[in-house]
Order: sequence, then C-alpha cells, then structure tokens
Amino acid sequence: MSHIHSLPRHDACSLLSYSLAASTAITSRHSGQANGGFNAIPISNPYGDEMTSKYTGQCLCGEVYYSVDVEPLFAGNCHCKDCQRSSGSAYIPAMLFPEQNVEVSGKAKYFETTADSGKTHSRGFCPNCGAQLFAKFGGFPGMLGIKAGTLNDTSLYVPKLDFHVASAAAWDFMDPRLPKKQGPAQG
Ligand SMILES: [Zn+2]
Ligand SMILES: [Zn+2]
Repeated sequence: MSHIHSLPRHDACSLLSYSLAASTAITSRHSGQANGGFNAIPISNPYGDEMTSKYTGQCLCGEVYYSVDVEPLFAGNCHCKDCQRSSGSAYIPAMLFPEQNVEVSGKAKYFETTADSGKTHSRGFCPNCGAQLFAKFGGFPGMLGIKAGTLNDTSLYVPKLDFHVASAAAWDFMDPRLPKKQGPAQG
C-alpha cells in the first residue's frame, strides 16, 4: 500500500483507491478478527505526520476535514424526520465525540433547529459543497457529532443503536441485530 502515501489528500480518486486498497487487504485476510480485521492491517499513516488520528474524514469537495484520536462516546443511527430531511436519506449514522478531541480544518456552516426535546440541534455542513459533517447539541454541550458517511474509512463506524425509529421511513431497512429505540437515544 505504499503507493497511497504519495496521493494528495483531497483527490476523490485517491480516496477511492485508498478504500479499494484497504478493502482488498481486508478480504485477503481471515474474517473474524476484532474490528473486521481492519486494525490488524499495518497502516503507516498514509497522509503524513498529522494523520496519526484514527477517525479522519472530509466533505465532498475537501474544503472541510477533520481528525479524531479518541473513541466515540456514542455511535448510532438516527431515524428522526429532521435527519431524514437534512440528509435526503433514511437516517444519519452518528458518532459523538468530545469536541476538544476533534481537530477540524476549514469552516463548516451551522444550521440550527429545535428538536422535539426543546433543545437545539445545529447541523454543520460545508458551505461550498453542502456535505453534512457535524452536529452540535444544546443538550450535550462540549460534544461534537460526526456523520459517519464522511469518514475516510467508513468501516470504523460501528453503530450500537437505532433510535427515533418511530419516525423511520417505510423503506428504511435496519440491521435487525441492533437494539431499537422509538424515541431519542438518551433517556
Ligand atoms: Zn465541501
Ligand atoms: Zn435525527
């Protein structure tokens, strides 16, 4: 995988070849290892010194990107109507990190709504390409949500819960192995 090291950060094709190389490496290994075998692959920091973080990702155009070096406090799929509307899809795969552990480059724009709980929910997106990356919650100050579809390696996202399933679309197929909550993830 040494050819990856020279690829530019924001080239979509390079990300594609990176993930292709990674998935090839995974399928060539025996399954059943912890974390799908991915952590067993020696990854020697393909983007240089600053990419020592485990969770890295970016928007569609590459103007906004991030890295996190801690494990998420929570990971789950939100099927609420606001997440459907803002994503244009069935749900948001969400990870929650302490904001202080997330290094963000570029400036995301935030759009604030009020959730059913009465608390604010601000969704952060790239002002250039519109890709959604982040969320901030009035009920969880100091936390930053990251949308797992923006991860460079989406296999790092391991959801623990489906929540707000009461408002899920009829065509929203969910992993039957995950616990389901009708309402919010917490409480
Ligand atoms: Zn962008
Ligand atoms: Zn939601």
